[in-house]
Amino acid sequence: MAFDSKEFFGKIKSGASSAASTVGEMGKAVGKKTGEKVELVKVNSKKHDLEKEIDGLFLQIGEKVYQHSGPSIEKAQFNDLIAQIDEKYTQIKDCVYRAAVLKGLAICPKCGWECEEQSAFCPKCGAPIPAPGPEDTSGE
Ligand SMILES: [Zn+2]
Repeated sequence: MAFDSKEFFGKIKSGASSAASTVGEMGKAVGKKTGEKVELVKVNSKKHDLEKEIDGLFLQIGEKVYQHSGPSIEKAQFNDLIAQIDEKYTQIKDCVYRAAVLKGLAICPKCGWECEEQSAFCPKCGAPIPAPGPEDTSGE
């Protein structure tokens, strides 16, 4: 039987290319996982920064109250600081939501508890969990 070098090398080639594509697929999956982890670290550190900024704003309010010399103090005097705190709390909520999505969890719209994405009801408060899917842009 004659040695068919063409067939022999053809087999090696096809074997090598299928192995390469398998490695490529694996690399892609790992790359995606790593990307999600990096994103999760970023989201968590942003949340941490926001919490520190909120602490700073509360300190500013406390200082103003401390330095105030009149008989009473109006909450309205701190409206700008309060608005900044509210804004940062909204951003924190967004971070919590994004972190949960990255971890494959769903956030209870009522109490904020992290639930399994496939659960129909929140295990903490019993509120229905919206099914995962296209982003709901209809509001709160
Ligand atoms: Zn809940």
